[in-house]
Amino acid sequence: MEEGARSCLLQSRSSLEQDIRASYLMDHMISDGVLTGDEEDRIRSKPTRKEQAAALLELLLRKDNQAYISFYNALVRESYGDLASLLHNSLPLVSPEAEKSFSDGGTRYVQAVLSEGGVPQRPVVFVSRPALVNRVREKLYRLQKEPGWVTVFGMAGSGKSVLAAEAVRDHALITEEFLFLSVCIYFLSVFSLSLLILDDIWDSSVLKAFDIQCRVLLTTRDRSLADCVSGSKSEVAVESGLEEDQALEILALYVNGKPQRLPEQARSIVRECKGSPLVVSLIGALLREFPDRWAYYLHTLQQKKFKRIRKSSSYDYDALDQAMAASIQVLSEEHRELYIDLTVLEKDVKVPAKVLSVLWDLEPEEVEDVLQDFVNKSLLFRDCHHRPYLYYLHDLQLDFLAEMNRSGLEQRYSQGPPTSGDEECLYWFRFLTYHMAKANLTQELCSLMFSLDWVRTKAQIMGPAHLINDYVEYGTILDKEVRGHFQEFLSLNGHQLEQRPFPDVVQLALSQPDSSEVYRQALLQAQERATRG
Ligand code: ADP
Repeated sequence: MEEGARSCLLQSRSSLEQDIRASYLMDHMISDGVLTGDEEDRIRSKPTRKEQAAALLELLLRKDNQAYISFYNALVRESYGDLASLLHNSLPLVSPEAEKSFSDGGTRYVQAVLSEGGVPQRPVVFVSRPALVNRVREKLYRLQKEPGWVTVFGMAGSGKSVLAAEAVRDHALITEEFLFLSVCIYFLSVFSLSLLILDDIWDSSVLKAFDIQCRVLLTTRDRSLADCVSGSKSEVAVESGLEEDQALEILALYVNGKPQRLPEQARSIVRECKGSPLVVSLIGALLREFPDRWAYYLHTLQQKKFKRIRKSSSYDYDALDQAMAASIQVLSEEHRELYIDLTVLEKDVKVPAKVLSVLWDLEPEEVEDVLQDFVNKSLLFRDCHHRPYLYYLHDLQLDFLAEMNRSGLEQRYSQGPPTSGDEECLYWFRFLTYHMAKANLTQELCSLMFSLDWVRTKAQIMGPAHLINDYVEYGTILDKEVRGHFQEFLSLNGHQLEQRPFPDVVQLALSQPDSSEVYRQALLQAQERATRG
């Protein structure tokens, strides 16, 4: 291991020992091939967590650069971000030449080989993602020993193609390993070996055509694509967003400024798109032409006017909405409908599969299959740090879905509010108001919330507290006076509505003042009852 990395490990040793759980990290290190099963057993045999951590670090100090990189990546994947950042600055580059290529985009020789192979150049504005690049290179080096597949997967616009091109921009890799053959598919070649780069592949039939024992670097949104081919396989997940600093750096580079001098909206733009490289670059390119439009583009992003975020960049899709839609179009019709149902998820809320099994009314096993498909296609994220696993959407995906699903929501509403208390309905009782407000279905929201029937059913199923909360939450949208009537009714009768058997809401409402909308509806219902006998 190089000296800088070693001394960084020594310096951070006690912090690492305090916190890490070796058993989590070792799985990753074994799959990276830097730790053996025997070594793992020896570490696991230590009685306490701390002793296991100490043993792992001791072993690591005797290993090479790859082991350091693998350990760093394991920390990142297991959400030890703070600890990973201690090691970040000393990450060894896979080859000494690689250092040079980071700074200048590769030696002249490298440029020539890559351009001959059709590998695209770096985007004009570029920030490096060394940990990711190293991860891909490390896998590529392993192809030296045997043919196989390296899959780089991630959601639309996460930077997979840029990353793949960057990974091969490495002098040592090119001179020692590969001749590159790259076909938009780019085809690069080296002395004895060839590396085929298949970029942005959607269809497994393309892969099958190349299932001929060659060496392939593949970028795709679909993690499972390589399942259909033979040979050794490894994969690198590309996080959907850049770190805030890097995203700000992109914006600054586009407007020729310094990150510290960017206007306040810059940070909000980055936050709004969660650092998506695609969105930040699209907006950066627009700002280069219209430098006064910071507030406008932030607003456009907040308003989800994705069609306006377009640019004649080298990116394949004209606008963000197309890039998103393309991912959804490749789903089977049945899965597409299920995916669109995910609109009910709230931002920053992660849910277990069971919730979706209720939402979709499917058996848990079927739900697992569907979720796997979505996760594979980078349409959904899985948080593996919890058992059971939790699933969530990227904000951009959620916004895009909400926009797409507006009509679906209207249609669901036009069928009338749900009336039974089965589990699916629970979700609608919980989410319907929220989604109506979000989709600007103001009128529909008012008539729903000002309906005594809705109050009765929601109170019966979810209790009065949820209802009261809705009136407060959407207070600014609702008519103040009528809202007052309903809130008053609920606060006076909240304790009754908690009772079981559930009381007669019409009876309760009839004791409201004559001027109250609650009273008016109760009277109508009472009269109707009387005429029905
Ligand atoms: P993907 O292949 O995941 O859909 P790309 O690699 O084509 O995404 O990247 C989409 C856009 O994001 C690029 O056109 C580029 O403008 C921007 N981008 C991606 N990675 C970087 C990076 N490291 N630095 C600057 N911009 C980037």
